[in-house]
Amino acid sequence: MTRTSLTQLEARDSFIPRHLGPSDTEQAAMLSTLGYASRAALIDAIVPANIRKKSELALGQFLDPMPEEAALAKLRGLAAKNKVMKSVIGQGYYGTHTPTVVLRNIFENPAWYTAYTPYQPEISQGRLEAILNFQQVITDMTGMGIANASMLDEGTAAAEAMTLIQRVGKSASKVFYVADDVLPQTLEVVQTRARPLGVEVKTVAADKVGEVDTCFGVLLQYPGVNGEVRDYSAAVEKLHAAGAMVVVAADLLALAVLTPPGEWGADVVVGNSQRFGVPLGFGGPHAGYMATRDEYKRSMPGRLVGVTVDAQGNQAYRLALQTREQHIRREKATSNICTAQVLLAVMASMYAVYHGPQGLERIARRVHRLTSVLAAALSQLGYQFANGTFFDTLTVKTDRAAELHATAIEHGFNLRRVDAGHVGVSIDETITRDDIAALYKVFAAGVAGAPALDIDALDAKMADQFPGQLARASTYLQHPTFHRYHSETEMLRYLRSLADKDLALDRTMIPLGSCTMKLNATSEMIPVTWPEFSNIHPFAPNEQTVGYREMIGQLEDMLCAATGYAAVSLQPNAGSQGEYAGLLVIKKYHESRGEGHRNICLIPSSAHGTNPASAAMAGMQVVVTACDANGNVDLADLKAKAEQHSANLACVMVTYPSTHGVFEEGIQELCDIVHSHGGQVYIDGANMNALVGVAAPGSFGGDVSHLNLHKTFCIPHGGGGPGVGPIGVGAHLAQFLPNHRSTGYARNEDGIGAVSAAAYGSASILPISWMYIAMMGGAGLTAATEVAILNANYVARRLAPHYPVLYTGHDGLVAHECIIDLRPLQDKTGISNEDVAKRLMDFGFHAPTMSFPVPGTLMIEPTESESKAELDRFIEAMITIHAEITKVERGEYDKMDNPLKGAPHTAEVITADEWKHAYSREAAAFPVASLRKQKYWPPVGRADNVYGDRNLFCGCAPVSDYE
Ligand SMILES: *Cc1c(COP(=O)(O)O)cnc(C)c1O
Repeated sequence: MTRTSLTQLEARDSFIPRHLGPSDTEQAAMLSTLGYASRAALIDAIVPANIRKKSELALGQFLDPMPEEAALAKLRGLAAKNKVMKSVIGQGYYGTHTPTVVLRNIFENPAWYTAYTPYQPEISQGRLEAILNFQQVITDMTGMGIANASMLDEGTAAAEAMTLIQRVGKSASKVFYVADDVLPQTLEVVQTRARPLGVEVKTVAADKVGEVDTCFGVLLQYPGVNGEVRDYSAAVEKLHAAGAMVVVAADLLALAVLTPPGEWGADVVVGNSQRFGVPLGFGGPHAGYMATRDEYKRSMPGRLVGVTVDAQGNQAYRLALQTREQHIRREKATSNICTAQVLLAVMASMYAVYHGPQGLERIARRVHRLTSVLAAALSQLGYQFANGTFFDTLTVKTDRAAELHATAIEHGFNLRRVDAGHVGVSIDETITRDDIAALYKVFAAGVAGAPALDIDALDAKMADQFPGQLARASTYLQHPTFHRYHSETEMLRYLRSLADKDLALDRTMIPLGSCTMKLNATSEMIPVTWPEFSNIHPFAPNEQTVGYREMIGQLEDMLCAATGYAAVSLQPNAGSQGEYAGLLVIKKYHESRGEGHRNICLIPSSAHGTNPASAAMAGMQVVVTACDANGNVDLADLKAKAEQHSANLACVMVTYPSTHGVFEEGIQELCDIVHSHGGQVYIDGANMNALVGVAAPGSFGGDVSHLNLHKTFCIPHGGGGPGVGPIGVGAHLAQFLPNHRSTGYARNEDGIGAVSAAAYGSASILPISWMYIAMMGGAGLTAATEVAILNANYVARRLAPHYPVLYTGHDGLVAHECIIDLRPLQDKTGISNEDVAKRLMDFGFHAPTMSFPVPGTLMIEPTESESKAELDRFIEAMITIHAEITKVERGEYDKMDNPLKGAPHTAEVITADEWKHAYSREAAAFPVASLRKQKYWPPVGRADNVYGDRNLFCGCAPVSDYE
């Protein structure tokens, strides 16, 4: 027997072969299909030589891959540098108990967290139902007509509400008033958004909002940041009479006992659902929300789940009114939001399902009661309060603020740092009697003759401490969903039954072009729920977040190495927000050089819809440039437009490799052209999965890029969010990166301000990308890119005899994804890309990207994580489907009544006594033999999009339907 050395044995501990789908032998087989001797030779043939990276990734201490256990241990070391305290800071973020049944079966369950955005409704009914529940929760709690499927956070939701009312309102004013007790981070995000749009943000005392001069709208906080619960009904009437509209940022838990803003005249209600069971996570991710009047539904940003019928007339859920979205409306879009916060919205909705209305009210009343007891206790000590009313927050007057903070920390609490004369306390559902007793001690320290605390005695004498006319009278959450699942057994089975309806990465490859649905490894996910990461308040003192900030600094360095940029900001919480932040950075750069007039943004026609939508939000004017017949940016057209707009050229936004799946040879020339006219180059990094280790945008001409950590760097898609959209910038732009002045994250005084409500955006999921990079090391990351390209080319080559690959580069090769063209087949047979997408469901597959970036096509991105066996299974399905289309072409199948048009087939349809189709049941259900052993049954037939939009309904079915 040959002896294996210790080093060789240790190499087997590597995570790299766990992340990569195909083994070395499988890779060799695929390379031989393509006619290349090695991966390196294949990459040399695909990636233009002039941008090809010559050196190793500069990953420093992370260059060598770490085995899973070693990486976890290293991250544990960082986590241990964080201090978990009871944060009663409030200011939009509260302690909460995630129901453990939700924690394990949603947050930690790949059936939920690895799902894609539910664009294919038939294989997404479970998460669509969960999101619909979320919309119902928000609609009921706020008292509004309609709510969307989530926003990125409270700050951006408020900013989006500002632009919503500007769009739908009748006022010509450019002034927007913000009450002075709105969360400071919300105000900062609103100011950032307002600036490029020419909106003037003014603040007004919260008790004087009825007296403001001309404006198009007002933003109120309910209850205010200092705890005050104000009756705004008279002010709102005055504002409406003056032609202004009213946005209210409201606390969901408070709305369980307070009159909802929808009942006192609000036009839009926004907020955060974090305290419905979603961990603090140092600021995110959490699901922001937006609700509005029914009449504004078509102008509302974000996704919206609606009810429709399927081909058999049964109820089905789907995403409604998608034409509002940025991928269609582009620069006329209502917003650039794409990836949102689905997983967190699902968790918050399940918190409401689990507790029901009585449970929520009980939690809210307990919180209020404990706050009242604390208020009485502190009064007893001689303290006075800045707020006369409250739900859960006291702003305590003191001349010993510093001392109180220090004593609180000794007792394990963080108070809110208001100012030198005040400290804040916000009570949440995790706070107990013992905690109240401990807080009492904090405030009693240094008070002579402090009486003993008698909680029950104080409780007995305290009435509710908010205005009586604001006690909620209306009911909420009356649908059976919020009453049925209160035993854990019922809850567990409800969650399981929903998950079972959906296809996520735990069951099938999800070959979505541009979305990079790769492995989300368990070791990457584990740290997210460590308390040292999940239980940290975003505004906790710096001394308690040392580990977090060290981890974040390391991740920034890793991403600088991967992109070739000088600096990275992790604040943007989705790719769209990264684009927006990056464009503001470019704007600020031009302004700093006295060239603030530069406002033209060139965008090739193949761009993702978020690009033009972001440019419009940044106050830029979009000029679309053409693509040539090969799918490349038409450099002659680009050059002509750059010359034409030379004096005002701000930037170009270009995706590389392109969304057409090609490494364009002319990328460097493109960068040079734009630079020569004084413009900056924004490279959309959503396709970084084709670049890491192979080429770096910061090295081949890019000035700014966003990355999608939820694509390239393994953060799971969560069914449509969370995401992280960091931006990397060249050294000349580093000073303009986002900061967070309102909460003390200075970074650089020249920064563009806050683009997210928390300084580090969705901080608690950053360990996922940190783990990925640490476990892969330089060589592993490069291998991932190479295998992603290999897998895509293997699929393209095997499918090419059946489906033409639309765009290819040198030697017929593609990048990490390929577009197959269904239009010739459709012309001949009437079978569309949609029919193929739906038919794939009968094979148990999630469809590729449909009709983006080219209508009538499918864009396939297999990623490096899929094995050859899975690729072959997919290829077999596609070839079988091609044979079915051929039968239609030959007249062997009817043009309309065939397995493609009938897809997907439900178990009910297949097993019905009556079978009326011209093709067999067997052909419908078991087109390939392997399905006999393992079969996914779509829970609904093809969803009717037109019916759903014509009969728009976006909540749980009316209660009468359940009778
Ligand atoms: C996904 C994607 C975006 C948008 O990113 P989100 O994280 O969804 O906001 C932008 N550009 C391209 C090319 C993308 O694929």
